[in-house]
Amino acid sequence: MMKVKENIIHNPEIECMDREELKKIQLERLKETVKLCYDNVPMYKQRMDENGVKPEDIKELKDIAKLPFTYKTDLRDEFPFGLFAADKKDIVRIQGSSGTTGKPIVSGYTENDVEIWTEIVARSLAAAGCDKEDIVQIAYGYGLFTGGLGAHQGATRRGAMTVPMSSGNTQRQIMMMKELGATMLCCTPSYAIYLGESIKELGYDIKDFKLKSGCFGAEPWTEEMREQLEGLMDINAYNIYGLTEMGGPGVAFECPEKCGMHINEDHFIAEIINPETGEPLPYGEEGELVFTTITKTGMPLLRYRTRDICTLYEDKCKCGRTHARMSRIFGRSDDMMIIRGVNVFPSQIEGVLLNVEGVSPHYMIVIDRVNSTDQMEVQVELTEEFYSDKVSEIEKIRETIKNQIKSDVGISAKIKLVPPKSIPRSEGKAKRIIDNRNIK
Ligand code: AMP
Ligand code: ZN
Repeated sequence: MMKVKENIIHNPEIECMDREELKKIQLERLKETVKLCYDNVPMYKQRMDENGVKPEDIKELKDIAKLPFTYKTDLRDEFPFGLFAADKKDIVRIQGSSGTTGKPIVSGYTENDVEIWTEIVARSLAAAGCDKEDIVQIAYGYGLFTGGLGAHQGATRRGAMTVPMSSGNTQRQIMMMKELGATMLCCTPSYAIYLGESIKELGYDIKDFKLKSGCFGAEPWTEEMREQLEGLMDINAYNIYGLTEMGGPGVAFECPEKCGMHINEDHFIAEIINPETGEPLPYGEEGELVFTTITKTGMPLLRYRTRDICTLYEDKCKCGRTHARMSRIFGRSDDMMIIRGVNVFPSQIEGVLLNVEGVSPHYMIVIDRVNSTDQMEVQVELTEEFYSDKVSEIEKIRETIKNQIKSDVGISAKIKLVPPKSIPRSEGKAKRIIDNRNIK
C-alpha cells in the first residue's frame, strides 16, 4: 500500500509557534471575546452578572473556569439570532446542524469568520498532503451542513482542483472519481467505506484510481475502521473534527503522525471537564470536551459543552506543529448508552466487530426493554465471501463476537448476523443505534 508521509504545514508561523507565545495570544483573544459577548449577547451578560463575573476578571487563561457554560439547548432557545454578537447586516453566512430533530441550531458567520474557517480547513487538508497538484472530491453534503462547504473552501484555499460532488449518487460519484483522477476524498468515514465497497462491486479495480489520501470526519470512527478504509481504497485516511457550533470542520485535524488531532488553538481554547460536575480536568484525562471560540465575531461561544468525550495532549508532536492534540472521540456523554447499568459507547462495539474476520463494518445496535430488563441486539453484516462460502462457520463467528463484547464491554448481547447489504447505508452520518426503551 502506498503510505507516503506527507507533511505540508499550511501556516508554519502559527502552527509551529512557541507554546508560551501561543498562550499569550490566546489570553489576549479570550479577553476580547469575553468583552464582545458581554457587551453584545444578552444571555451572556445575564449569566455573567448572575455569576458575579465581569470581563475584567479574566486576567489569566485559567480564569476561563469563571465563565458560564453554553449548552446546545441555549442555541435552540436563542434560535435563530439570539446569540449573534454582530449586527445582522455583518453576517454573510448561515450554516446549521445536520443531525437534530425539532428546533434546529444555526451558526452565523461574519466575513472574517468565513476567512478563519477557510484557513483552518486549509491547514487540515494540507496536513493530509493537499496542494495545487491535487484533485479533491468533496462527498460531504453541501447545504446547511458544514461538511461540504467547509471542505470546499479549504480545498480551494490550498489551490486544489475542487470537485463539489456533495454526498450520494454513489455510481456517479465513483465514475467522476475515476475519470477526473481524484487524488483526495473528503466525506464521512462510513460513506467512504461504502464508496470503497461499491468500487469493488461495480467491477472497478482500485489501481485504476488515483486516490492517495482523504480527510474523514463528522462522526465517530475507530482505528480499526481506519485500517479497513486505508486497505479498501489504498489511501492514507486522516481524521478531521469539528462542529457547527464552532463553525464546522477544521477545529482539529490529524497530521501524518496520526497520534491525535491538532487543535487550531489560535482560534479555539479547549478544556476537558468532568461531565457530571463541570470541574476542569488535567491534560491526559478523559472527559467532556469544552470549546471557547476566541476569534469569532458572528456567533462567539463561551465554554461550549460539546458532549464529546476525549482526552487532550500537550506533549510535543514529531510533525513540528506545537498545537495541543485531542484523541479520537470515544463517544458522546449524551448518547452514551446505559445498558443494564453499564455505560456503552457504540465505538466499543465497533472495535470488536472490526476485529472479527467474516463480518463487515456495517452494523446496527437495537436496544429493547423486555420484562424490565435491557436487551441489546447487535445486527452485523457478514461479508460477501463468508455469506456464500463459509456459512458453516456462522455459529463460530456469532460466538466470537458475543464473547468479545462480553469481555470488552462487560455485557451480554444477542448477535444477529445478517446477509450482506441488508443494513441501510447512509450517505452522511451513519445511524447505528435504535433505542426502543423510551427512557429518555
Ligand atoms: P454537526 O455540528 O452536526 O456537524 O455535528 C458535530 C458533531 O459530530 C461533533 O460534536 C461530534 O460528536 C461529531 N464529530 C464531528 N467530527 C468528528 C470526528 N472526527 N470524530 C468523531 N466525532 C465527530
Ligand atoms: Zn503532529
